[in-house]
Amino acid sequence: PYEVLVVGAGPAGASAAIYAARKGLRTGLLADKFGGQVSETVGIENFISVKATEGPKLVANLEEHVRDYEVDVMDNQKAVRLGSNGLYEVELENGAVLKSRTVLLATGARWREMNVPGEQEYRGRGVAYCPHCDGPLFKGKRVAVIGGGNSGIEAAIDLANIVEHVTVLEFDSKLRADDVLQRKAKSMGNITIITQAQTTEVLGDGSRVIGLNYTDRASGEQHNIALAGIFVQIGLVPNTEWLRGTVELTPRGEIIVDERGQTSLPGVFAAGDVTNSAYKQIIIAMGSGATASLGAFDYLIRHSED
Ligand code: FAD
Repeated sequence: PYEVLVVGAGPAGASAAIYAARKGLRTGLLADKFGGQVSETVGIENFISVKATEGPKLVANLEEHVRDYEVDVMDNQKAVRLGSNGLYEVELENGAVLKSRTVLLATGARWREMNVPGEQEYRGRGVAYCPHCDGPLFKGKRVAVIGGGNSGIEAAIDLANIVEHVTVLEFDSKLRADDVLQRKAKSMGNITIITQAQTTEVLGDGSRVIGLNYTDRASGEQHNIALAGIFVQIGLVPNTEWLRGTVELTPRGEIIVDERGQTSLPGVFAAGDVTNSAYKQIIIAMGSGATASLGAFDYLIRHSED
């Protein structure tokens, strides 16, 4: 069995695995996809001490650093169940069961979807979630941003520099983004903001997005907008569906951790965007990965007789 089994290899999981290996612990690192959200990121300018880098480059650096240690890396493996039978057990989608004395959950988060007709069909063919990655594909075209929170308005400002026009559709009667962002968006000539708008359908011509339908929640009227791209910016969902009924979660599905990164199950730790940490950033995920890993080390030296 492993002493520390890390599930998820984004910044939090990579950092946790390195800290565990440096303590001489038998460490496993399994991930659906090495790098996590960072692989989808273009410019990163707030990873302190590195003035500017790019997602794929940071992922390559993370992987190189992890592989410099004796870490058993299992990429393209999805965890589907956490159980215990003396040791903790993590079951994979392919049926294999990995055993470990401690488990460190770092499965991160993903974009929340609208769940309307056409969204899945046109995903990657006009429906996008990452303005930094896909914005340039819509140069000179008309696009919509769904969601008027900070990420939505940031996306609109970002896209307005590239595309012809941006329509922001917000479900609520007012935007939730910070004032400074709202002012910036309103000062740009090619952003239209529509509130109380519920997107009901993504329209396409069979190969690409050509528009969307929304309902004006105040009047109940249906509207149609012709556009080439739809950026969905309505929040992040923690990847914890497979953990329901095991560790304690917040109502939003985030894993609740204490100051050592321990969850409600002794010996099970968590770090990064999957937890109830207030802010979700690379440097924060890495710090919490280190914390949780040291927490697991502490746990192991106190339970060495088990
Ligand atoms: P993630 O990066 O989400 O990694 C989760 C890992 O878990 C992945 O390896 C995934 O494959 C794996 N996983 C999930 N479920 C399972 C499962 N069931 N079994 C096995 N493995 C699983 N932050 C910044 O600091 N600066 C930025 O400029 C910045 N820009 C961003 C731009 C975009 C487009 C996005 C999406 C995010 C950005 N962020 C940025 C946020 C940052 O990427 C996240 O805070 C950070 O990646 C969180 O790290 P994490 O390790 O907790 O989770």
